[in-house]
Amino acid sequence: MAYVITNTCTKDELCIDACPVDCIHPKNDEGQFETTEQLYIDPATCIDCGACIPVCPTNSIYVEADLPPELVEYTAKNAAYYN
Ligand code: SF4
Repeated sequence: MAYVITNTCTKDELCIDACPVDCIHPKNDEGQFETTEQLYIDPATCIDCGACIPVCPTNSIYVEADLPPELVEYTAKNAAYYN
């Protein structure tokens, strides 16, 4: 299981600073930052620590199992960014 970022993300990068394993991308110095709609968590690297959740100002990050039905698709969207 991993944590999942959803469509209310505003790319403020506070979660990137909070993540101890550097699994949230793109960062603002990476090429895709300007064009991507949101940030994404790499499910293969996420350690489920939860550090990103309290720093998100838009409450856009969920434990995968807690995603509301209308946001379940974001599990695959986060993973797809890394495939
Ligand atoms: Fe990073 Fe922890 Fe959030 Fe996973 S749960 S994205 S490891 S801060």
